[in-house]
Amino acid sequence: MTFLGTGGARFMIISQVLASGGIWMNLGGNEILLDPGPGCIVQSTRRQLKADRLNAIIVSHRHLDHSGDVNVMVEAMTDGGHRQHGYFFAPADALGPEPVLFSYLKKSLDGIEVLEEKKSYQIGDVTFTTPVRHTHPVETYGMVFQTPRHTFAYIADTLFFKEIVEHYQAEMLIINTLFTEPRFYGGDRRLPIEHLAVPDAAYIISTLKPKTAILTHFGMTMWQAKPKEIAERLSQDTGIKVISATDGMKFDFAELDG
Ligand SMILES: [Zn+2]
Repeated sequence: MTFLGTGGARFMIISQVLASGGIWMNLGGNEILLDPGPGCIVQSTRRQLKADRLNAIIVSHRHLDHSGDVNVMVEAMTDGGHRQHGYFFAPADALGPEPVLFSYLKKSLDGIEVLEEKKSYQIGDVTFTTPVRHTHPVETYGMVFQTPRHTFAYIADTLFFKEIVEHYQAEMLIINTLFTEPRFYGGDRRLPIEHLAVPDAAYIISTLKPKTAILTHFGMTMWQAKPKEIAERLSQDTGIKVISATDGMKFDFAELDG
């Protein structure tokens, strides 16, 4: 698994202080791209990751930092549209009016599948489920992946909600942690900005007790607060290995077998 970016939200994306290319996974030869934000094509080609080997592209939700490079990555996955190949997964509202995927690319794909709450999907010998709709301004799902050898979950953008911990039991957790502390529009506590913050991640990790947790998708204040130090503090507080992802970082699933 390669992190092609660890930045999230507007100011991080437009400045590219941290990249925003999503996550490239190779699961026993099954290659899957998750949330290809702006720069994915640059970040992947410079690391010799070959898009024509991708089996699928998954978008958790239509926000630009998760979908900006969808079209170019579908073109790359299908050899410039010349080879019908690969699957595209996204929530209905990313495919409806103003879709994230240009219509001319649809015929190049083997299929488009709509993500819905509590559904299960198959990519080769990898299964993933979308257990719960997230609390976020657009239709958003996280995923629990099951490979022949491992389980891991991707907790995409969401406001914290108590039941979240009932849905993401896995050996490894990836948590999009945008903020150091919960934030509110105009400072009004009735108007939360719908993202996870460090205390939410701490609660999720200490409740679900994965073998490893990886924090990513950092906003500007999170980056300024040094994610590495935050992850070290969370490791100490929870007794669980917490890693802060860095641009280009690779995670080897064999680490979960140790
Ligand atoms: Zn979002």
